[in-house]
Amino acid sequence: MRDYLIIGSGLFGAVFAHEAKKAGKSVLVIERRDHVGGNIYCEEMDGINVHKYGAHIFHTSYKDVWEYVNQFVEFNNYVNSPVANYKGELYNLPFNMNTFAKLWGIVTPAEAAAKILEQRTAIKGEPQNLEEQAISLVGTDIYTKLIKGYTEKQWGCNCTELPAFIIKRLPVRYTFDNNYFNDRYQGIPMGGYNKLISALLDEIDVRTGVDYNDSRAEFEGIAQKVVYTGPVDAYFAYKLGQLEYRGLRFATERLEEVNHQGVAVMNYTEREVPYTRVIEHKHFEFGMQPITYVTKEYPTDWHPGEEAYYPVNNERNQRLYQQYAELAAKEEKVIFGGRLAEYKYYDMDDVIKSALECACRELH
Ligand code: FAD
Ligand code: UDP
Repeated sequence: MRDYLIIGSGLFGAVFAHEAKKAGKSVLVIERRDHVGGNIYCEEMDGINVHKYGAHIFHTSYKDVWEYVNQFVEFNNYVNSPVANYKGELYNLPFNMNTFAKLWGIVTPAEAAAKILEQRTAIKGEPQNLEEQAISLVGTDIYTKLIKGYTEKQWGCNCTELPAFIIKRLPVRYTFDNNYFNDRYQGIPMGGYNKLISALLDEIDVRTGVDYNDSRAEFEGIAQKVVYTGPVDAYFAYKLGQLEYRGLRFATERLEEVNHQGVAVMNYTEREVPYTRVIEHKHFEFGMQPITYVTKEYPTDWHPGEEAYYPVNNERNQRLYQQYAELAAKEEKVIFGGRLAEYKYYDMDDVIKSALECACRELH
């Protein structure tokens, strides 16, 4: 009998598997998809690492997590500085002095602050939803041009129906600084994310193309404990109802061009363009290839059985998740971890931190 059966080879499963093996435990990883890595998986096309499940930029303020990943692969010095395209007008992101200067023709931080102050007077007290939070942070002009359309197509509902925290992910700065993240450390693995996953899963038994929830009987009694990183409601056969997600569709094209858009990520912020972002993958690794690959990212309604991308954080889903979490807590031989099992809008560094903490509690 093995010590651990790990369901899912994304970052949570791969980090846990690595730590368990290092602690002398025997491990088997099973993965539903036909490849390992979960959402960070890349496919190499003409020497360019194409991010198959959306652009992934590693950023963290956890020194221990940064040192952890750098043991396995060296990271480059890529800094994410996306550009917003609103009806052909280009603005720097995140919201900073470059954005304010282009939008209002102002020059100083004091002038920008005065503009925003004037535009946020409508919001009194603590913001109750994403719209109020956005206006209170950056005023109505930026809300209208750079947030409303993007957010409504991304989430498929009105900004007044979304929680405020989603927009707090983005920095607002009164300096000329286009770095999308405030974190201390940032970069892309040199040679792609698959190198990180391969190193984590080195010498670990992995079976791809196997869905645990469809073949439980086969794995019954195979290990002392299970680490489950799939959707929590699927584990319990949806007996309390289904958690909702936002879906995505990716349309990738190969173009006979050296440089298509001059930036890795361009956000299309008006409602009428059906995609949210266009990714030009080569720029993540400063590629010099004679051709390029671009991917349009279309938000979609999600249907059961499709790939689940973003948890929909509304009250109904949070309540339902809490009920599943109570069931999960009673499963003594199963550890639930990662973005699907915990139904959380986790970044990669959060997932790694959580897997390391889990491994530490479990193995030492
Ligand atoms: P996953 O990567 O989803 O891995 C879970 C694995 O379990 C999957 O491979 C799945 O196939 C498998 N599985 C599920 N059910 C079963 C089953 N029943 N049987 C067998 N296997 C199963 N984070 C950042 O830090 N920076 C970014 O720039 C960033 N960009 C993102 C962009 C997009 C579009 C999305 C959707 C997410 C982004 N993230 C980003 C978040 C990041 O993808 C996640 O934090 C991280 O990959 C989650 O790892 P995980 O192991 O929890 O889940
Ligand atoms: N957002 C926006 N305009 C943009 C980029 C982001 O309004 O140009 C909002 C949108 O609501 C999005 C949230 O900010 O869901 C968080 O953006 P982030 O880039 O962190 O989203 P992710 O990369 O996780 O999809």
